Amino acid sequence: MTYTPHGKSLIAGAWVSTGQTFASRPARGASLSVYTGTADLVHDACEAAEAAFWSYGYSTREERARFLEAIADGIEDRAADITAIATAETGLPEARLNGERGRTTGQLRLFAAHIRKGDYLDRRHDPALPDRQPLPRPDLRMIERPIGPVAVFGASNFPLAFSVAGGDTASALAAGCPVVVKGHEAHPGTGEIVAEAIHEAIKACGLNAGVFSLVQGGSRAVGEALVRHPRIKAVGFTGSLGAGRALFDLCAARPEPIPFFGELGSINPMFLLPEAVSARGDEIGAGWAGSLTMGAGQFCTNPGIAIAVETQADAILGPAKEALVGTPAQIMLTDGMAEAYRQGAEQIVAQQGVEQVYTSRTDDRTARPNLFRVKATDFARNPVLSGEVFGPLGLLVTVVSVEEMLDLAKDLEGQLTATLHMDDGDMELAGRLLPILERKAGRVMANGYPTGVEVCDAMVHGGPWPASTNFGATSVGTLSIRRFLRPVCYQNIPPKILPEDLR
Ligand code: NAP
Repeated sequence: MTYTPHGKSLIAGAWVSTGQTFASRPARGASLSVYTGTADLVHDACEAAEAAFWSYGYSTREERARFLEAIADGIEDRAADITAIATAETGLPEARLNGERGRTTGQLRLFAAHIRKGDYLDRRHDPALPDRQPLPRPDLRMIERPIGPVAVFGASNFPLAFSVAGGDTASALAAGCPVVVKGHEAHPGTGEIVAEAIHEAIKACGLNAGVFSLVQGGSRAVGEALVRHPRIKAVGFTGSLGAGRALFDLCAARPEPIPFFGELGSINPMFLLPEAVSARGDEIGAGWAGSLTMGAGQFCTNPGIAIAVETQADAILGPAKEALVGTPAQIMLTDGMAEAYRQGAEQIVAQQGVEQVYTSRTDDRTARPNLFRVKATDFARNPVLSGEVFGPLGLLVTVVSVEEMLDLAKDLEGQLTATLHMDDGDMELAGRLLPILERKAGRVMANGYPTGVEVCDAMVHGGPWPASTNFGATSVGTLSIRRFLRPVCYQNIPPKILPEDLR
């Protein structure tokens, strides 16, 4: 490894230490002494971001596209170090992190191409009608403009793709918004080396250093100060429901309330329709087990519940259990997450009507899978059963009729995804479920598993509360840039002084 993390925060181009430190808790190797972030650092970063906006917010799309590509190149140049630091900090396997790095740089390049095209500006023009009766119409032009400095909070389970240079940062920078990231305590060294790549790209592109800052965590005061800072105009957050709700409430309570784009957890229901289960229950059961245990179940798209007709339950649970029994203990992202998973599993088991199909337990920073079943009547009465347990835990909910399946779908809370496993003979039932599921989820899919999220134009990674705090937004894909734009209408403004993109 050629890069040794120093644990400082990057504030507008300078690496800064503070008077206090915290020790990182890596899955492997030596702990890093990290300088705890402070409200003062947050203030300096936000003021610098505002100052930078006066140039960066008015830069050309080509300048920003080159900047995004320079960040991607800088991340690739540091590939080996990033993987080494991130595997040690998170315990995620090397191959997974190499893939996630590709996704992160691909995302940056996708946004570069997207802003070069310019469709996202949604330019509109209603030319003047001076002779219109009874009143003439003025010349009206509309364009999307960047909103100002954006705060970003990444999640522990995607230390690259949903962190320092992840989708929120890429989309905000693409829009023309400077970014202040609150570093995640679970991967401070990974955050630092990625911030270093952004820092170098800023210098290479000759941009104002305030365009990007990383304030390390270690204190709740950092995140709170960041969302409350008057220079911040929106927040991109990926993480748990509890943290998301706390920060969302702080944003709403500000003297100037700002949008909080929280991408939170989900239980991602899968509806296993009768014909599909009859034809290939084995395959679906084993596939569910594979999706549940991927990455130790630490995905926001983990399919935590499946719904099937009671008489077909064994056709799913048998093969699922068989696949789970052989799953070894997998390391979790943090000690706290491993403990929360154990507690979550114990809580599910204690609920009325829950039957254990397969249970296993570890007592260290690892997780083993758990599989349970419950009747729809007990599930419907108990909100504990529809809460996210972050880890490899599955719950099969059984229904006695198609009508009960439809009712269960109607009662679901907002989800990131909903899945139909269906064959041709299930078309009628699927057709009745789809209008319900489209009200519940950001992405509805057939015959697959929700754990892979494509980064592209048509992707929606969001959904109604509590999957996200804004049902109109996505945090993955090119549409995510909309979160950091604001439409402005220019009435009778001489073209010479209009924003360049409108001239
Ligand atoms: P987390 O514990 O909510 O942490 C996310 C960020 O919020 C961290 O920076 C954390 O800071 C901060 N935070 C936590 N509690 C806070 C509070 N009470 N007040 C202020 N800030 C607070 O989430 P995580 O463990 O990193 O990630 C796992 C969760 O993210 C899961 O629920 C998963 O489903 C969700 N997730 C969602 C998506 C999506 O796109 N929808 C993607 C990935 C993950 P500290 O470091 O100080 O704790």
